[in-house]
Amino acid sequence: MANAVMSDEAVLLELLNSARMVDGVPIDELRGAGASEWLRAHGIPGTPTAVRELRDAIAGVVRGERAPAVLQRFVDGMRQVPVVGESGVEWKVEGGRFASRAVLAWSGLQGRLRPCENDSECRLFLIDRSKANARRWCSMSTCGNRLKARRHQDRVRSTG
Ligand SMILES: [Zn+2]
Repeated sequence: MANAVMSDEAVLLELLNSARMVDGVPIDELRGAGASEWLRAHGIPGTPTAVRELRDAIAGVVRGERAPAVLQRFVDGMRQVPVVGESGVEWKVEGGRFASRAVLAWSGLQGRLRPCENDSECRLFLIDRSKANARRWCSMSTCGNRLKARRHQDRVRSTG
């Protein structure tokens, strides 16, 4: 059962990566005929336009291009209420729409959610759960190797 539903963090990453570059061409899953189907497949409620606004706001904040305050409107109306259970008081989120949960997921990932360093060609985001937290590329096999190869070429060119 636990695996049947993607975690909010995993959905957030999928959402952020719905806009990306493929072979130099920008792709946006939330535009065009397949957008509603993409949202359904990922269990994300809302219209493509509304979800795109949420995605672009979070992506802008993660890239350091927008102030975190742009996310405020997505968490308005959300509150935590204490529920006393077997293990004591637990905080339950109320009024949490999908957008609020996405912002909470972003908040919980501070410092671990970042853009791939291959920014000009890739536009993907990554979640780094390693202890060192020093991952720089969405994938070593694509962006990591591509950047290393290019830097090597640049070095050869500048010394040659
Ligand atoms: Zn990448």
